[in-house]
Amino acid sequence: MGASASTLPPGAWLGCMGGGQLGRMFVHAAQAMGYHVVVLDPDANGPAAQAANDVIAANYDDLKAVDALALRVSAVTTEFENVPAAALERLAQKIPTRPSAAAVRVAQDRRLEKTFFAKSGLPVGAFAAIESESDLRAVAASLFPGILKTATLGYDGKGQARVANLEEALAAFAKMKAVPCMLEALIAFDMEISVLVARGADGDVGVWPVQENEHANGILDLTIVPARIAANISARAQSLAKQLVTALDYVGVLCVEMFVAKSGELLLNEIAPRPHNSGHYTIEACVTSQFEQQARILAGAPLGDTSLIQPAVMVNVLGDVWFDAETPMQPAWNDVLAIPGAHLHLYGKAEPRRARKMGHVTCTAATLDEALANARLVKSVLCIAG
Ligand code: ATP
Ligand code: MG
Repeated sequence: MGASASTLPPGAWLGCMGGGQLGRMFVHAAQAMGYHVVVLDPDANGPAAQAANDVIAANYDDLKAVDALALRVSAVTTEFENVPAAALERLAQKIPTRPSAAAVRVAQDRRLEKTFFAKSGLPVGAFAAIESESDLRAVAASLFPGILKTATLGYDGKGQARVANLEEALAAFAKMKAVPCMLEALIAFDMEISVLVARGADGDVGVWPVQENEHANGILDLTIVPARIAANISARAQSLAKQLVTALDYVGVLCVEMFVAKSGELLLNEIAPRPHNSGHYTIEACVTSQFEQQARILAGAPLGDTSLIQPAVMVNVLGDVWFDAETPMQPAWNDVLAIPGAHLHLYGKAEPRRARKMGHVTCTAATLDEALANARLVKSVLCIAG
């Protein structure tokens, strides 16, 4: 199916499985291009539902609701990776579904994901799938110190334990109620990076510049673009991302997280089969944002230019900034908005909670140093540590 032959014209209806902030920004981009969006999410008033043309308030595994969505829209995408594969398969029988259930399934399970990397010749650190205590007892000693992660449903560092040795790993595995896990050797890295990549239904691939990511308490804190790494490492990271989407026969926008190991090697960590928090800067700093690209691919339109227009630094805004000691308060938004080149995004979540992603601020500037200085200012006026 060639992209041009199947282009959905503006005015067409698109579907989005999931109603969080990524869906909200997808809705904004799709609507800017003249499309209408129906969101399927249990919460009728979540971030994406607030912006969408219509919402089907239902669980993702409610096949009646999924069928109703398929009748309303001409193509469907997803904004989070834990949409049940069965729902995506059902949708795919009726309308173009991008990404596919098969690709999303790989990203849902760390065992499939890491095995896929290794099989595709993509560099990855040492790992072992753990399904029982005896699997754990059989692992090579070189996997310690390591990180034990639940195979499914982990995010923002949840469902993970650092383990120094077998004894700690056994205790952590028991604490995780012996659900399927991955044990990964702890990688000594200089930097965490991520690469956003898009692939159209016709196989055309576009890759954005490489992002440098800093985490705080397991949650993304800062994204710096372009990443402060040598040009040849950047080029290699982009080429690995392209190789990955082609090997996965992926259609849509995908983000791949990598470590720049102290050895100089690049090692893949995980993929997100959707736009990504570390790609929010593309809204202001790139010719085509990750969300516009998602809409283009869904509509079967040509890919947009992924070039960087100017350097950018994104600061994540968590619910913590609403709390001064234990007293809820309104953060100093005007102080943020007074910073040159600062773009404030709030996701419309009614209740701020600690560690909850409430919004982000992207600072764009003529130089990366200036963007970094302004991002530090954002953090200081919002009292974000670090
Ligand atoms: P998110 O949803 O925020 O991307 P996650 O919960 O899916 O996170 P990972 O990305 O696998 O989990 O891990 C979270 C963080 O833990 C990584 O960004 C990195 O800082 C650290 N980490 C994970 N795996 C390793 C490893 N093998 N070696 C060293 N550090 C690691
Ligand atoms: Mg991660």
